[in-house]
Amino acid sequence: MTKKLFIKTYGCQMNVYDSARMADVLAPLGFRPVDAPEGADFIILNTCHIREKAAEKVYSELGRLHQLKKNRERNGDSLLIAVAGCVAQAEGTEIMRRAPFVDIVFGPQTYHRLPEMVARAARANGKGSRRRVLDTEFPVEPKFDFLPQAAAPQGPSAYLSVQEGCDKFCTFCVVPYTRGPEYSRPAADVLDEARRMVASGALEIVLLGQNVNAYHGAAPGRPGGEWGLGRLIRELAEIGGLRRIRYTTSHPKDMDADLIGAHGEVEKLMPYLHLPVQSGSDKVLAAMNRRYGGDDYRRIADRLREAREDIALATDFIVGFPGETDADFEATLRLADDIGFTQAYAFKFSPRPGTPAALMEGQVEDSMKASRLKILQDLLAARQLAYNVASVGAMMEVLFDRPGKRPGQLAGRSPYMQAVHVDPPHSGGDDAPARAGRADGPDAITGVIGSIARVRIVEAHGNSLKGALQGGAGPARIAAQAGPDQRICA
Ligand code: SF4
Repeated sequence: MTKKLFIKTYGCQMNVYDSARMADVLAPLGFRPVDAPEGADFIILNTCHIREKAAEKVYSELGRLHQLKKNRERNGDSLLIAVAGCVAQAEGTEIMRRAPFVDIVFGPQTYHRLPEMVARAARANGKGSRRRVLDTEFPVEPKFDFLPQAAAPQGPSAYLSVQEGCDKFCTFCVVPYTRGPEYSRPAADVLDEARRMVASGALEIVLLGQNVNAYHGAAPGRPGGEWGLGRLIRELAEIGGLRRIRYTTSHPKDMDADLIGAHGEVEKLMPYLHLPVQSGSDKVLAAMNRRYGGDDYRRIADRLREAREDIALATDFIVGFPGETDADFEATLRLADDIGFTQAYAFKFSPRPGTPAALMEGQVEDSMKASRLKILQDLLAARQLAYNVASVGAMMEVLFDRPGKRPGQLAGRSPYMQAVHVDPPHSGGDDAPARAGRADGPDAITGVIGSIARVRIVEAHGNSLKGALQGGAGPARIAAQAGPDQRICA
């Protein structure tokens, strides 16, 4: 019998990938994904711990689901509720205490055991005798060895998890505690999964990991041998039909020569890199345990640009880390100005329970954090706008992976990760598909979704570009999902 599964995903691409794999694991039990919680037999909240007040948001969502569950039970039906992901890992016991109606709590490393957890919880669910399941272990067996092949294609741009966990222990970050120690999947498994993704319509593969460039997977057919991320990317590039490769998120310390070289040599590797710097101050970077200084980061950026002149660099900043002085903040502004990031995410430091930074002396006043954040964000926004404006007139290959907000509008990404949209022809834009050899009308233009099309950039905004189709698009493939949070590694 078919049962309905609703998964609400918070946070980054890694969680999007995990949610898809949870659906794969549950498919043999008859669960089919649905788009809304109403009517679902099983609801999973796949949570993220990066954002401020993450746990409180989960409890507030759980309050709504509790009502749904009560209504269902009043009608003699049952509803299973589970909390997954990093909040579950960090606060499993507390969730069981505060939300006794939750049936299952499991961490990011145990979802391959979901069928067993569901069987245990479902046995008593809705029949008065409650049996609840908490599984937040870091099992010895890697979950990837137990996951089934993906049941559903992800779309033209597909996420592929190659690495998980982290051993870096940046002092502000919960990942080493919620995702566990660093683990890299064997290269042969990654290549197999990539081939299947391409066979089911993926044109672009985004390699995921909390610290993806620390990848060191077992080399195929060479016992004891390992491949780094550079080698993995070179091998992936040999897959026919795969047009684009990206990876996220990286640590500057792990940008080795082979990976930097791959940016110059592998055409399919897109000229964009999200490389979190967090601060420009050596003192703050040391307190964060980042293991590099501002000048180290500048040198890496130089080497990347030597390898690939047009590479677009994106980053993350944390403003107001404990002990950050005006001089430290000035160093951050200098670094931001020197590098010229094309996209950047800046956040106020917010202490995560259980991390060393939460207990550090010299916590910065919130008003100071806010004013510094504003200054930095203004600088970053100005650089991003200038970069986008410089793209006007350029021809770019855009991967259109979803409809835009307006009917008939297309949305996609440039090689440099800029959001690009093309308006429907009736909107009066400079993008009439008839000129590109297409029949006129919104239906014709949306047929471009799932392909890479040549686009002339006609307009620039702070966060997006507007383009005009120039022909050369491939056949329509598959509609895709909304974009998740870009951050994996904090
Ligand atoms: S910030 Fe990134 S590198 Fe640092 S501990 Fe977290 S996941 Fe690891």
